[in-house]
Amino acid sequence: MRSALPQLQSRLPKVGTTIFTVMSALAAEHGAVNLGQGFPDFECDPKLVEAVADAMRAGFNQYPPMPGVAPLREAIAHKIAQLYRAEYDPVSEITVTAGATQAIFTAVLAVVGPGDEVIVLEPVYDSYIPSIELAGGKAVVIAMDADFRVPWEKVRAAVTPRTRAIMVNSPHNPSGTILRDADLRELESIATQADLVVISDEVYEHMVFDGEPHRSVSSWPGLAQRSFVISSFGKTFHVTGWKVAYCAAPAELSAEFRKVHQFNVFTVNTPAQHGLAEYMRDPAHYLDLSAFYQRKRDLFREGLARTRLRLLPCEGTYFQVVDYSAVSSLAEADFARWLTTELGVAAIPLSAFCDQPVERAMVRFCFAKRDETLRLALSRLERL
Ligand code: PMP
Ligand code: GLN
Repeated sequence: MRSALPQLQSRLPKVGTTIFTVMSALAAEHGAVNLGQGFPDFECDPKLVEAVADAMRAGFNQYPPMPGVAPLREAIAHKIAQLYRAEYDPVSEITVTAGATQAIFTAVLAVVGPGDEVIVLEPVYDSYIPSIELAGGKAVVIAMDADFRVPWEKVRAAVTPRTRAIMVNSPHNPSGTILRDADLRELESIATQADLVVISDEVYEHMVFDGEPHRSVSSWPGLAQRSFVISSFGKTFHVTGWKVAYCAAPAELSAEFRKVHQFNVFTVNTPAQHGLAEYMRDPAHYLDLSAFYQRKRDLFREGLARTRLRLLPCEGTYFQVVDYSAVSSLAEADFARWLTTELGVAAIPLSAFCDQPVERAMVRFCFAKRDETLRLALSRLERL
């Protein structure tokens, strides 16, 4: 006889399968153009593949040092120094992670304890709140304004003696907005006054458009000293499946980060790290990315302007949000489903980024796609 199943108390009772996985499966099932989950449908640079293959052939196939291989940590520190004028010691302040998702989770576990509050801004990337809850903390959700700017006075008012950290994301997924100097000034003022840790998700740092710079929290000394700054090679080099990212933080914060990191992944794929280090030697490989994606953004927006969808601004990321209220009164999740199954274009409902049920009649498209993929999607969207 089989014994009864153990009684489980779910640690994440409200969580199902992520929307990205659900929509990609639906897109595949219905042969839809997948503009839902954020990943490129084109190949990365063959030179990068060669660099990783070279590393494998050169015998870099065993465990690397726990925080990452030295050449990659040095390349990351060099890049941050060049772009943001911030000094991070590659030995003690840069840690290579298995994707940004792991870096975010690790940073949260390193600083958030039971009962601690963490401020997040909604729409919020889907991994943040579960990470906080798994650490025993409580997410304090502040809704962004209608134009997806941060209402700093509400953030300030939400701070309590239990507030431990704030999580920010610029360029912002899903809205495509970016933080500006005035935002970072407010963030610094609030974080300093309340002695908060800042977890800054900057995975789209190299996709900022129209000549704007990326304003990294690392470039603000008052913020950098209390921040974990996270970026991902998956986004920057078109290799989302490799799952290699990093976290830059002052030595004291990095030491706590590494205590957790060593027991949730220990180390990250060795040949990929060596290959990425080699590939980073040419800064054009990341500096050209904004122009590359701006061209795709413009192609996609020009096409969307011919449809009945209303375009929201897109200052960065590879996402474009549209308002479909002129087309349908369906709820966002239903509209995204309908769009996928009936029109053949997959999108992500914005409500998937919200803890509270909120309906804005908006969905997100990913334009990290070949031009012909974008054109095919547009030809279908024009039928709306
Ligand atoms: N943060 C944001 C805002 C993202 O959009 C993503 C993935 N698209 C991640 C983190 C996770 O990145 P990774 O794939 O490196 O885990
Ligand atoms: N971050 C990607 C997006 O926003 C998806 C990553 C994932 O599937 N977890 O689409």
